[in-house]
Amino acid sequence: MFLDSLERGIGMNKKQKKVLLRIILAAALIIVFSLLPVEGVLRFILFMIPYLVIGYDILNKAIKGIINRQVFDENFLMAVATVGAIILGDYTEGVAVMLFYQIGELFQSYAVGKSRRNISDLMDIRPDYANVEVDGKLEKKDPDEIEIGAVIVVQPGEKIPIDGVIVEGTTTLNTSALTGESVPVDARCGDEVISGCINMNGLIKVQTTKEFGESTVSKILELVENASSRKSRSENFISKFAKYYTPAVCYGALALALLPPVVRMLLMGLDPQWGVWIYRSLTFLVISCPCALVISIPLSFFAGIGGASNQGVLVKGSNYLETLAATKYVVFDKTGTMTQGVFEVSGIHHNKLEEQKLLEYAALAESFSSHPISKSLQKAYGVELDQNRVCDVEEISGEGVLAAVDGIRVAAGNSKLMKRLGVPYHDCHSVGTVVHMALDGKYAGHILISDIVKPHAREAIAELKKVGVRKTVMLTGDAARVGEQVAKDLGIDEVHSELLPGDKVTIVEKLLGEKSAKETLAFVGDGINDAPVLSRADIGIAMGALGSDAAIEAADVVLMDDDPLKIAKAIKIARKCIRIVYENIYFAIGVKILCLILGAIGIANMWLAILADVGVMVIAVLNAIRALFVKKL
Ligand code: ADP
Ligand code: MG
Repeated sequence: MFLDSLERGIGMNKKQKKVLLRIILAAALIIVFSLLPVEGVLRFILFMIPYLVIGYDILNKAIKGIINRQVFDENFLMAVATVGAIILGDYTEGVAVMLFYQIGELFQSYAVGKSRRNISDLMDIRPDYANVEVDGKLEKKDPDEIEIGAVIVVQPGEKIPIDGVIVEGTTTLNTSALTGESVPVDARCGDEVISGCINMNGLIKVQTTKEFGESTVSKILELVENASSRKSRSENFISKFAKYYTPAVCYGALALALLPPVVRMLLMGLDPQWGVWIYRSLTFLVISCPCALVISIPLSFFAGIGGASNQGVLVKGSNYLETLAATKYVVFDKTGTMTQGVFEVSGIHHNKLEEQKLLEYAALAESFSSHPISKSLQKAYGVELDQNRVCDVEEISGEGVLAAVDGIRVAAGNSKLMKRLGVPYHDCHSVGTVVHMALDGKYAGHILISDIVKPHAREAIAELKKVGVRKTVMLTGDAARVGEQVAKDLGIDEVHSELLPGDKVTIVEKLLGEKSAKETLAFVGDGINDAPVLSRADIGIAMGALGSDAAIEAADVVLMDDDPLKIAKAIKIARKCIRIVYENIYFAIGVKILCLILGAIGIANMWLAILADVGVMVIAVLNAIRALFVKKL
């Protein structure tokens, strides 16, 4: 009964409940036996009962460690300290140290388990099933079994299990589990939908465009699950530290037990006081147990990554939180990153053909490209495209596309492309992105398109300055006039225009050379044409990555929605997490050193030692969990 309600109430697992029972039993036995007026061997035998009840597994692990020649760990420290105390006749102390150590361990495993569960709850996007209509009835199927192109039914309140396109129905989607964005979005027939969103009100039928394993949810879950395997510098430091620290402490304790008595006896001619010094050295061992550090640091990072994903910021590893926290230079791509990448046609000039005809050639030639310009031209043309009319497509990054449409060689792109083909072109007098057109090598006019900056872009730059970013730089393949206009509107410090993807790498490398080693440079892009820079920067941030596999793969940090404000947010989250890590390191080491000194000069006894150890651990773990909670913007 008691245990059942324990399980429901605070969610302990079986193993933890067993430890809790042992703790209660041992504590009761210690209290009872301490009150009994027994002496000598009987007292020893009585106290061995709670000692073994509470410590048998620790002793067992310590012995196994010795057999496997991996002697120096916490189990060994505790075993030696408590066995030593019992040999000295301090039975209560020996058992109590074991008891408190177990209480600390229980608390820690409970807290870790709980926060891990919290994080998976936060990331509660894994769909359990997909509904398929069979003979007019809905059947629940494993999402893994659904093939590409199948039609699935998503009822109100259900998660969309697989990426696809709505073929029937209208609804509102809640994307907050993916993006941290709580404003619902409307979706209707023909719209692409992403797995992990929650269908709020209408029944929709979705034709899948990907397999479950390739869908957004699977990618995200994979990413978050693997994040903890990329270790940060502080985590590596701690595991190295523990490796040298524990043996060092053991030898220190040995020296403390042996040297002073020998010196007293041989050099000073005094009573060696073996008992006093051995007791002090055992206290020293208890104090030096490094558990608080070893557990709280990975936990802080884990909580930081969990808190960030709750806000729609996916961080691929703890090392990236560290890099992100030190960001001083932020370099942006323009199209799709600071601007919406949805161009509107604002003019067609010097055209030799009808405007609609020119647009038709442009849209067809672009029909295989995934560049925002291509999508916008297709939209402006507005008529269903027959891709069979297009062949020999070649896309030149940062310049444009070449293709044969109805047998006519079409070139659509910027002035670089025209120069490459040796086609004389007319410059445009208005500010905007220009798509020059050449048909069969002859200039056919240009289409002027313009893009809108994202609603929060200006605020995002200001926010970056506020969090201490020293320099913001924008890199674009677009014309200088457009680049400068956007940079000026947004308050970006430096802009470089008319760049090919390779030039962007060169500029980022130059900036990397200018900054000091402690500062880091972040590159923010949308994953189209900028994968090389994303991986070259200290940290690559991809934004608006919902559904874009390329960006999820190339970047270190993925911002799930299009909002550039999230960049400053990500930096803040990282800083908070790193601050917590350092607080824990300094606090734990500080208390340890203090206790070690007190123990060595004989002020601290074993009681104080174990309480300090458990206390530090509890505080460090609670502090670590703070990293999970991030203020909404
Ligand atoms: P940004 O650096 O602003 O993200 P890109 O490197 O993707 O831009 O492209 C740079 C320039 O190359 C564009 O501004 C455009 O002039 C030209 N361009 C690239 N791809 C295409 C395309 N598919 N169609 C037409 N022009 C293109
Ligand atoms: Mg781009």
